[in-house]
Amino acid sequence: MTVLSDPAVALFVPSDRARRLRDELLDFMDSSVYPAEPVYAEQMRAAGDPHHHPAVLEELKSQARRRGLWNLFHPDPRWGAGLTNVEYAPLAEIMGRSPVLAPESCNCNAPDTGNMEVLSQFGSPEHQERWLRPLLDGTIRSAFAMTEPEVASSDPTNLRARLQRVEGGGYVLNGRKWFASNALHANCRVLIVMATTDPDATPHRRQSMAVVPLDAPGVRVVRNLPVFGYHDREGHAEITFTDVPVPATDLLAGEGEGFAIGQARLGPGRIHHSMRAIGMAERALELLCRRALSRETFGAPVADRENIRDWIADARIDIEKSRLLTLKAAWLMDTAGNKAARTEIAAIKVDAPTMALRIVDRAIQVWGAAGVTDDVPLAMFWAHLRALRIADGPDEVHRRTIAQQELRKYCAPKEKG
Ligand SMILES: Cc1cc2nc3c(=O)[nH]c(=O)nc-3n(C[C@H](O)[C@H](O)[C@H](O)COP(=O)(O)OP(=O)(O)OC[C@H]3O[C@@H](n4cnc5c(N)ncnc54)[C@H](O)[C@@H]3O)c2cc1C
Repeated sequence: MTVLSDPAVALFVPSDRARRLRDELLDFMDSSVYPAEPVYAEQMRAAGDPHHHPAVLEELKSQARRRGLWNLFHPDPRWGAGLTNVEYAPLAEIMGRSPVLAPESCNCNAPDTGNMEVLSQFGSPEHQERWLRPLLDGTIRSAFAMTEPEVASSDPTNLRARLQRVEGGGYVLNGRKWFASNALHANCRVLIVMATTDPDATPHRRQSMAVVPLDAPGVRVVRNLPVFGYHDREGHAEITFTDVPVPATDLLAGEGEGFAIGQARLGPGRIHHSMRAIGMAERALELLCRRALSRETFGAPVADRENIRDWIADARIDIEKSRLLTLKAAWLMDTAGNKAARTEIAAIKVDAPTMALRIVDRAIQVWGAAGVTDDVPLAMFWAHLRALRIADGPDEVHRRTIAQQELRKYCAPKEKG
């Protein structure tokens, strides 16, 4: 029997609205975001605190909001722009060109985007009033705490943190998490925590997610974790939870729903990560070309060397392939749902950061010593993209998903499970 893969042909013609937003965003990037990058660096240097919240960011947020470039990620028009994945993906790519400033300026930064989607889908009206509204307004920030230092967390059935039911109702939370991104943001106020509610349940029903205020008794941010030596402004926190009281009403969607919520949260997030990675790749290629044209060695511009031309050509080919695959994943999610797009979502999470890393690495090479400094964003892109091959699931786990899907095509029906 011949097994055909899904039809890969789709016309990614942007709607008028998506085109208008794209033009507005491009203008915002040129007129405000890129010029703000050195201002941001100077304000951070002057503050001497890696978690300082600089004034320039609030100025950019006001401008983005006035321009209608706010909450573009949210697919539900009650909460955000109401764009499809295919419509939003190119906007995420543009924001990825300045990953420290543009996504947060437009209230489209991870992990707040995923958390806002979870609260709008699974939060109670009280959660939505207390946490979702201010998150959508950009006045507070949030973190997502799943990974634990003691266990291999790419397999979430290993997680040990416990949400234990107590007499009289409610739970107490105990455990240690790390790499909770955003928890050291000056405006972070709330965490979504994944922990075991029933260790005896079937593996995918053991975990639940709870909303935990950052200032709840027993929550302690132990330290910030550097990424390749960078102390990111939003931070990646190690956090301990000691007898933290969690009211039953703060469980999202009920006991045992942690995995199901995780699946809903991560699909769109992977499109966003991949498109931002493609944005970084595009900016790195632009920087590579400009530098290669402007410097001469041994009597000829660097851009005239055959190996450099090959790098440029390969970069263009790789970016185009990666973008098409990501848009296919977005289109499948829009038209057939997250489950139907499983292979493509896993594939882009492997492909886009790896592809972008290769281009950034070559751009650093062409920039020589300047490439490893902070005078150009290449070193920061490299650190960010390298970490992305682990964050939100390591490459190997996504490859495992793809291989499982492929093998299932050839299994007898009873083996498919
Ligand atoms: C910058 C950054 C930000 C992050 N932000 C967050 C966050 O906001 N919230 C959060 O909860 N977590 C966050 N994480 C954590 C991230 O999601 C985990 O690190 C990731 O899921 C892997 O878990 P682990 O570190 O425990 O690695 P492990 O599970 O110990 O895996 C280690 C390695 O084992 C190998 N491996 C694992 N499984 C397989 C397999 N099936 N086949 C072959 N090899 C395999 C892979 O090489 C993998 O990298 C972040 C991480 C980073 C680096």
